[in-house]
Formats: sequence, C-alpha cells, structure tokens
Amino acid sequence: MTDKSMASLTQEQAAAEAAELRPQLIAWGKQYYDADTPKVEDDVYDRAYARLVALETAFPAIVTPDSPTQRVGGSTKSDLPKVVHDIPMLSLGDVFSIEELQEFDERLRGNVADDFDYNCELKIDGLAISLRYENGEFVQGSTRGNGQIGEDITANLKTITSIPQTLSRPLTIDVRGECYMPKAAFLALNERREAAGQAPFANPRNAAAGSLRQQNTQVTADRKLATFMYNIADYEPLNTRTQSGLLDELAELGFTTNPTYQVAHNMTDVGDYIEQYQGQRSELPYGIDGIVIKVNTLPLQRSLGATVKDPRWAIAYKFPPEEVEAKVLDIEWTVGRTGIVTPTAVMTPVALAGSTVARASLHNPDYLTAKDIRLGDTVLLHKAGDIIPEISQYVVAKRPADAEPYVIPTHCPSCGAELVHLDEEVALRCINPRCPAQLAEGMNHFASRNAMNIAGLGPQIVAQLFDRKLVDDVASLYRLTNDQLLTLDKFGEKSAQNLLTAIDNSRNNSLERLLFGLGIRHVGAKAARSIAAEFGDIGSLMTADSESISAIDTVGGIIADSVVTYFASDQVRELIDELRAVGVNLTYTSGAETAIDTEGQFAGQRIVLTGKLQELSRPEATAWLEQHGATVTGSVSKKTDLLIAGEAAGSKLTKAESLNVPVWNEAQLQAAMAETK
Ligand code: NAD
Repeated sequence: MTDKSMASLTQEQAAAEAAELRPQLIAWGKQYYDADTPKVEDDVYDRAYARLVALETAFPAIVTPDSPTQRVGGSTKSDLPKVVHDIPMLSLGDVFSIEELQEFDERLRGNVADDFDYNCELKIDGLAISLRYENGEFVQGSTRGNGQIGEDITANLKTITSIPQTLSRPLTIDVRGECYMPKAAFLALNERREAAGQAPFANPRNAAAGSLRQQNTQVTADRKLATFMYNIADYEPLNTRTQSGLLDELAELGFTTNPTYQVAHNMTDVGDYIEQYQGQRSELPYGIDGIVIKVNTLPLQRSLGATVKDPRWAIAYKFPPEEVEAKVLDIEWTVGRTGIVTPTAVMTPVALAGSTVARASLHNPDYLTAKDIRLGDTVLLHKAGDIIPEISQYVVAKRPADAEPYVIPTHCPSCGAELVHLDEEVALRCINPRCPAQLAEGMNHFASRNAMNIAGLGPQIVAQLFDRKLVDDVASLYRLTNDQLLTLDKFGEKSAQNLLTAIDNSRNNSLERLLFGLGIRHVGAKAARSIAAEFGDIGSLMTADSESISAIDTVGGIIADSVVTYFASDQVRELIDELRAVGVNLTYTSGAETAIDTEGQFAGQRIVLTGKLQELSRPEATAWLEQHGATVTGSVSKKTDLLIAGEAAGSKLTKAESLNVPVWNEAQLQAAMAETK
C-alpha cells in the first residue's frame, strides 16, 4: 500500500492510530455481522479498514493478533448449532482503484513464472455459504462465520429453490458461494417491514443474512433468497482444472451459477469487464458491490495459497461509492394503510446510479433524529445496496446558519389525531380508524391488481372521492352513481361509465381477492388464496378459530390470529354486511381456474424477462407465465427456453442472442396471452 503520509509517521504514532482504529472497526463489525444492522456506511468502514491495513503494512511490528486485518469478519453469535469448516472460508482482499488492481497483478506476475489468465466474476452483495454434499446428497449448509467455524443453517437453506438437494453426480464436496436477496424481494420485504412498524434492513446483504441466521424456516422461505455458487473447498473430485470450468461444472451438477463471468488474458480485458458491469449495475436484478478477479488455473490457486484472511490468488475491486449532493426542500409525512406515518425527504432532483432521484425515505422519527437532517440542508445521497436512494449524512460546511433542528410532528397530517408509538415499534402511528388518509390508502389497496382489480380507480381518483365525501369505506364504492363520478376532475361520460363497469365487474370476484383487498394484517395474496379455498365462504371463515385457520398448510399462527382478531371487530362485521348488501360476492369461485396449466405452450418452459415492459408490469407478466406452467428465472443460461425483452434490454438480450435463445418482444407475449385466453 503506498501512502505518502506514512513516511512522516513514527512507529509509536502508527501504533497509537491503529490502536484507536481497531476497537472502532471491531464494534462496527459486531453491529454488521452479529446484528445485521450496520451503524455506518460500508465505505466509511472500508476507508477506516484501508487505513489500518496501510499502517500495519508500513509498520508490521504493530500488528496485533486481534486486529480485524487478521481475522475473517463474521458472526458465530447466534443460537444456531456450529459447524467447523475443515478448509477455512476466507474473505477477499480488496482494492478501490484500477491502479491498485494493476499493482496486485504486477505483484502476482512477479511471483509466478508462467503466464496465466484471470476469471472475472461479479461480486455479489450477499453472504457466503458453504454447502456439503455426500454422495451427491445435500447434507449440511453453513454460514462463513469467523472462517473456521460457521453456523448450521441447513434447514433454512433447504427452503431455497436454487440449491439442489441432489446433484447430477454422486460427489462428496463442499461447495461455496453467495446467498443473496434479489432487489425486488428486498424492496418488497422492506415495504412489508415498514408497514408492520419494523425498522427496514439497511441493504440486501444484511437482509439475506438476517433471513438465514434465524430459527424459523418459514421466515426464510418467505424471503425469496437465491444463490450463486462459485467455489469448491477441494477441486480434486471435479473434472475441470480452471475457475471458469469450475463454474460450468457446478452448473452441470445442478447449482445456479452467475452467467456473467469472463476469462481475461490481461488487465485490459479486466478493465473492459469492470467498465461493462459498472455500467449495467443498476439494471441487474441483484446487488453487486464490485468485481472479483481470480487466477483461472486451479492448481496455481492452490500453490499461491492464502494469508490468514484472504486468498493470494484473488482480489475484489470495489466500485467507488456513487454519491451526489442534493438539497432538502421539504420533509413530507405520509400516512400508510395501517396508520404508519413515514417521513420522506423531498430534494432537488439529481441523477444517481442510473435514475433521477428526488425523494429518499427517512423511515421513522428515530432515524431522522439520528441523522439530524434539517430543512435547507445539503445532503449526500447514494443508493443503498445498489437500489434504494438513501441519505448518508448532511454536509456540515453547507448547513445554512439559520437551519433549526427538525421538529417531529405530534399529530396526523391527514386527520389531526395525536400520533403514538405502539409497543416496541420504531414507527409513529395514527390510530384513528376513520383517518381519511388511511381509508384512502386502504381503498387503493382494495382496488389494486392482485386484490379487487378495479381498473381506472387510481390514487388520484380515490383522493377526490374522499375529498368530496362520495365514499367513506370500500362498500360505498359500490353505491357510486354516474352523476357523482361526472363531478370528478376531467371525468366525462365515457370515463365515468368505464369506472362504473370496472367497479361492477369486481362484485363477481372470487373470495380470495376480497380477502386480500380488505388489508388484514399479515394476509398477503398467497395466504388469502389458501384461506379462501379452504373455507369457501366468508361466513365460515368469520366463525373459524385460530387453530382451524393455522391448520392450513401455508398459513402460520400469526396470520391465523390476525384473521380472527380482524373479524372479531364490530366495525369489520358491519363492513362485511354492507359488502353483502351491495352485492359483492363472498364465496370462493376460483377452483380449477387458478390451477397451474401443465399442458399449454409455456408449460415447463424456463423464461427470463428483461428490459422495460410498456403495457404489462413485470409481476403481472411473471404471474401469468407461472400460472401457465413456466418457471420465470432471473438470468439467461443455456437452459433458458425464451427471453422476453422489453425496451432498453441490455446484457441479457446480448447473452440470449449469443446462446441462440429465442427472443420475443412484449407484443408477441401479449398476442400469446390473448390466444391462450
Ligand atoms: P467482502 O464482502 O468485501 O468480500 C469477501 C466476500 O465476497 C466473500 O466472503 C464472499 O461472500 C463475497 N463474494 C461475492 N461474490 C463473490 C465471488 N464471485 N467470488 C468470491 N467471493 C464473492 O469481505 P467481508 O470480509 O465479507 O466483509 C467486509 C466488508 O463488509 C467490508 O468491505 C465492508 O464493506 C462490509 N462491512 C461493513 C460494516 C459496516 O459497519 N458498514 C462492518 C463490517 C463490514
């Protein structure tokens, strides 16, 4: 490490600085690895860590055995049983500039007589796992832990569909790789957590770690985790002797591997790879925080060996954190369906990592107070986990002299009721059941696609309906008249008629849509479907007890209790009577209609969606394809049967073309959908 400032330091000064850095890094590491709740941004940690490495490299005598540079960071602090890694699971050395990467290459080539290639791979932002197979059967899975000892998470890993239970050959091997949470699943999870008053996860990596390092397999199963495997403890049982060949062989054995790897003959090739994926980063469905280059020859990897912490044959190049400044114009408080009141910073629009950003959630009052964001502040903005706009801090030098500490509201911005903190929740809540903002949010949910699917009833119309007192709950929607709708902004005869027809049609929906649309706590679309199918009509469900509801396979006790509590309310019973009175169907009529199609043209097909679809939403297209028997996956490989490419499709389209995978556009998909109907 070349750092000019080292030249002017004495060993005592270096030792003193290192002695301050170590406990700080260890404390941050504990928060990050043990509790999955980092206290500082990764690059703050990385800079402090890099400084410690520089000090210890310049003055090797100051290294202490407990230094974070001498240990693989990771937790074994849970109640989970422990697993000893016969061959340790290591971390990776990292560099932050192309120059440092060049230095790594020069050092390595200086020590190796023969020419060699690198294999370039994406650095997936998840957590390392090890999977043990005996005679081709999955027997044990573990976390990296401290590198020597990990935690046994076999039961949780068994819920992840990309992990094969049986390999295509009866090998006894320890395969290593990354378990991660796709961006879409991460966003949905944090939305659910915030709606339930819980603190959101800081990034997909911590979310994945939190989902695996806990005791309830159902929680893991619901978190939609995925894996990319990229390493093996001992390569002897494999046929290949290269890293790139290893990825191919792992795929043949049944593992999911990341298809973007490339063999690089020199540093120009490595530079091209970095440039390509730095550009495509925001389009990938999973977070990456850099790339990893690995010596491509496995026996050479072995002879190069490792330090106490990192292999000598690989290095991670971390992408520079993309951070921009923006000015906070306002802090908006919005009331969600369940009464949670969330602050959002409204800022001057800025371009950041592939999109224009003008808003960033401040999550809850504690978060806002801890960051001490004030109106008029200039703030530093980045995308957490590659995905969510997040304010890291305000810029001290740019704080206006008259900026006052922000005062957290005490009353609901919609109905004026006093806000409260329930139990241990970090969130602030409005608990007024007649709060118009909550009712409007509830109606938006009721009308949404997976619920009652009332086309044309969007948030702006719902807001007007409430403002003009034309509705006061979801049942009153069904009493709206043509004349009333004509009073809405920009509403003519045709739009009024269309909306009335859409509302009218929704009366005939099967019960699961209504159950989901009512917004019962913890009841998602899937649980609603299982419950509706089991009970058949709302009357039977309303008299059911928690045991009989939780007896349904995919429905747990929390959901069952929530359903029972919901229907115990007099207000809810009145609402159901109202819905009955206005002719809304309260029985389950889906039956065979929702059974998965096993014979049509999509049955058994592996399909990938990419780019921006214009008419359909991704979840809609995915749900339809799955309903018709397809498996929708995230990455293109030789096994992909069809790629559906929307606007601005990127690397997946190129890859599909290179593998001769058939490609459809959105119109072709819609035509097939129309035919299938
Ligand atoms: P790391 O995450 O920087 O790199 C090593 C890991 O990369 C491997 O263990 C593996 O899990 C992963 N990886 C992903 N794709 C890979 C691929 N294709 N091939 C090989 N490995 C791949 O190192 P680490 O020791 O796990 O964690 C250190 C990092 O964690 C720091 O750089 C920092 O960003 C973060 N951290 C943050 C805090 C905080 O408070 N914010 C605290 C501690 C650590």
